[in-house]
Amino acid sequence: MSHSASSESVHVRAPGKINVYLGVGGRHDDGYHALATVFQAVSLYEDVIARPAADFSIVVRGVEDPDSVPLDDRNLAMRAAKLLAAAAEYDGGVALEIRKSVPVAGGMGGGSADAAAALVACDALWGTGFSQARLHELAARLGADVPFALHGGTAVGTGRGDQLNPALARGRFDWVLVTSDEGLSTPVVYATLDALRAEEGALADDPPLSLDVPIPVLQALRSGDPELLAESLANDLQAAAVHERPDLERTLSHGIRAGALQGIVSGSGPTVALLCSGPESAQEVQSALREAGLDPLHVHGPVPGARIIG
Ligand code: ATP
Repeated sequence: MSHSASSESVHVRAPGKINVYLGVGGRHDDGYHALATVFQAVSLYEDVIARPAADFSIVVRGVEDPDSVPLDDRNLAMRAAKLLAAAAEYDGGVALEIRKSVPVAGGMGGGSADAAAALVACDALWGTGFSQARLHELAARLGADVPFALHGGTAVGTGRGDQLNPALARGRFDWVLVTSDEGLSTPVVYATLDALRAEEGALADDPPLSLDVPIPVLQALRSGDPELLAESLANDLQAAAVHERPDLERTLSHGIRAGALQGIVSGSGPTVALLCSGPESAQEVQSALREAGLDPLHVHGPVPGARIIG
């Protein structure tokens, strides 16, 4: 296929996410759990720079442990680039540089953001000209969280988390994130949830295979009122994440004592997201947690999805 490939590099920025609500149902035959979630994209970004090259390569900057992120076909950004090349019948390559700010294995979808950014960057670099709908279709093949990283804003995910619908959210929500040096494996956290449910005897009353986001969560987002949203934050994976990392419970109560309205483990953790009443309150919470030796970041949401900058 002929393309008007660019000789310039393309720089794309994509956001990390918080799950402000995460309901986990039963497990489908394919091993995936039924989910009903609300994603919010927040102002902690991954930057992906795509440069023209004959082959495919990747470098990752901004990670403390270089072994934590694979540089081969296991890297979601590499898979995204190769998937797009195959779909577009493009026979060149790309040199990808990933500048990470989203914690690795932090429950904030950093790898998914890299994949979404790589799709947008390679589409522009190679002159592929795919529609947003086509990019979404490719994103969904890469992972349940990738379409959201393309889309950004606030959205409801159902099915296996991949059926995305925009949610109305007014105003801005201020969050203080407490990241951890050590990540948590998403499959391990789901396995712990299954084990905890089995112990509780939930097998007698099987978790549903289809579920919805509760109306009060959507109403709170629409109202733009952080106090209302604080009342509806919930994460079915939280108990499992805390089981793996009991220190998260202390971080959550510390954040609330410091003035946050409510706290939640983001996705499969271990990042803790503390919802604050506004920017000033978030700064106070951030200072208090920093004094306690934690590593807090003040972010806000919703923000847009993967887009070309510069
Ligand atoms: P989830 O989307 O499941 O919430 P997460 O945000 O907890 O994921 P990620 O940082 O996206 O975690 O990555 C989880 C694992 O995926 C990492 O431990 C790493 O081995 C692998 N991985 C693949 N590609 C990437 C990438 N581009 N950046 C970071 N990790 C990646």
